Amino acid sequence: MTTTPAADIRPIVEIRGLKKVFGDHTVLEHIDFAVRPGEKVVVLGPSGSGKSTMLRCINALETVTSGEIVVNGVSVTDPKTNLNVLREHLGMVFQRFNLWPHKTVLENVMLAQEIVLGRSKADAKARALKLLDKVGLSAKADAYPASLSGGQQQRVAIARALAMDPKVMLFDEPTSALDPELVGEVLAVMKKLAESGMTMIVVTHEIGFAREVADRVVFMDGGRIVEEGQPDEVLANPKEERTRTFLARVL
Ligand code: ADP
Ligand code: MG
Repeated sequence: MTTTPAADIRPIVEIRGLKKVFGDHTVLEHIDFAVRPGEKVVVLGPSGSGKSTMLRCINALETVTSGEIVVNGVSVTDPKTNLNVLREHLGMVFQRFNLWPHKTVLENVMLAQEIVLGRSKADAKARALKLLDKVGLSAKADAYPASLSGGQQQRVAIARALAMDPKVMLFDEPTSALDPELVGEVLAVMKKLAESGMTMIVVTHEIGFAREVADRVVFMDGGRIVEEGQPDEVLANPKEERTRTFLARVL
């Protein structure tokens, strides 16, 4: 469905020799990883393997111990980098949606546009309404988050991230906190986003999504990338025992 971009295109996300240590616990080591514009990468791996930490290093929510990360030509790991500029390129969606409870859905999607990007209220509103339409929630613009289902709240969180016009979207288990019947509507929005050409790095246990949407699957264990490749290779015919064991559990 998606086309793999030509191999000579410069990566939009590049990680070289990433290492992250918490205290005396090495959480990530020898991570080398590049994502090309428009590519969709699904990251799989057991709990504690370092998936969230890797995403958090990419958008500088964590400082790295060593190694380099470059996003859209901006070095994340250079202390001189203005992290606000970096984060304008990156949208992130977490397991927990963290919407502002006392703001309406529309206000949730408008707020950062006005504060961070300095957009006018009218511009922010126009963009927010367009995105709420895209995630199928125009009718909920004036509702408060608490009145929405978890799936609807996560779709608002996706719209809110997209409102910043990111170059890359990072998803950290976006459906893990949802009741099973609400997972599909969120995956459908993500699939549509993938089809629109967005560059995406998605941590998920949804193997069906990986199979359908990913250009590449990366399997992590023990803070390292153990195996990566096209989804049909890695999912149907994993080379590493650890990948096989993991897949046997989640499939
Ligand atoms: P995953 O997302 O794959 O479940 P994480 O990246 O959340 O894994 O965690 C990887 C390891 O790093 C775990 O052992 C976790 O306990 C540890 N870890 C994560 N964040 C911190 C932190 N802020 N301080 C100390 N240890 C952490
Ligand atoms: Mg995690």
